[in-house]
Amino acid sequence: MELHYGQQVPRNPGDPRWFTGDVTLQPLVSSSGPTAKVLRVQFAPGARTNWHRHTGTQMLIVVEGHCLVQRRGGPIFELQVGDAVSIPPSEEHWHGASLGGSMTHLAINVEAETEWLAPVTDEEYAGR
Ligand code: MN
Repeated sequence: MELHYGQQVPRNPGDPRWFTGDVTLQPLVSSSGPTAKVLRVQFAPGARTNWHRHTGTQMLIVVEGHCLVQRRGGPIFELQVGDAVSIPPSEEHWHGASLGGSMTHLAINVEAETEWLAPVTDEEYAGR
């Protein structure tokens, strides 16, 4: 077995090309065959990903705050601590914190590389 102590895993700022606002990514643990990567992602209030899609399945598990998530053409859903969402390959979507508070989710990416698209505009974020 391979132990990964959270305090020792580096925390990296989200690339401003792919995120709006203050985001911190911490790659916690990964496996090969099949490739699964688990990341802890922290969003400041109002912070969110760009629109994007994954080549494989992504699962998000909310561990702090309220998570907003939307697929292209759908409503904005709000998830609470303990809630989870599974996003199928190629589905365009974004996820992030609400304006009211910070949010942390675990992201489990299974055979999933990320293809980044345009930022989520303030209008889209506000559900308009
Ligand atoms: Mn995603």
